[in-house]
Amino acid sequence: MSAIAADEMRALIQAMAERVAAKRDDLNRLDAALGDGDHGASISTAFAVAVEETEAIEQPSLSAIWLATAKALMNRMGGASGAIFGTFFLKGVASLRDADRLSHNMMAAVLADGLEGVKARGKASVGDKTMVDALEPAVRAFAAADDFASAWRAAAAAARSGAESTRDLVANQGRAKFLGERAIGQQDPGATTIALMFEAAHDWWKENKQ
Ligand code: ADP
Ligand code: MG
Repeated sequence: MSAIAADEMRALIQAMAERVAAKRDDLNRLDAALGDGDHGASISTAFAVAVEETEAIEQPSLSAIWLATAKALMNRMGGASGAIFGTFFLKGVASLRDADRLSHNMMAAVLADGLEGVKARGKASVGDKTMVDALEPAVRAFAAADDFASAWRAAAAAARSGAESTRDLVANQGRAKFLGERAIGQQDPGATTIALMFEAAHDWWKENKQ
């Protein structure tokens, strides 16, 4: 049965970091339309630090990798969104505890904990034009699948369509809230980042585990 080991989790984080870095300018442009234009720069810098920090761990465990990523996002992204993206990883640390391999069901639980933490922290629900619009359907799709391969595929597709759904919405959270109806027509940058993260994970899985 397939599972994720610590070194593979590190590779997954790295794949996410590379994807977000490749789309840095696009993410900045999305944020320029809805916020202050820094999202691509701050998420890619924070993920690069996360990769460095996870590589520096001498005996990497799943929970240490998740914790280092949480800290990098919280400390290097700054602001409300750094806390929100960091919380996603931080909330999973407790459920990872001393697991050395993750089954699909365990990973689904870690993702669900992260989603719950994000919603508690940011007070956003689906439809508020935030990263939750991509994250919640992705986490649900991941849990509903039977194995990793179909879970990553379904989660990536759900995150992408969730991110695209933000285009038609007005924002009830974050800086875009102040734009009112003028936010309509622009895709949310944070939701787009979530789609990129799940797509990167799916691609990594296809290339390395299938
Ligand atoms: P900032 O708004 O501080 O400049 P970023 O530009 O890095 O931060 O990130 C903006 C993203 O943060 C938004 O696109 C949105 O997805 C996400 N976001 C903002 N507020 C919230 C919230 N309350 N809950 C969930 N996500 C949020
Ligand atoms: Mg911003």
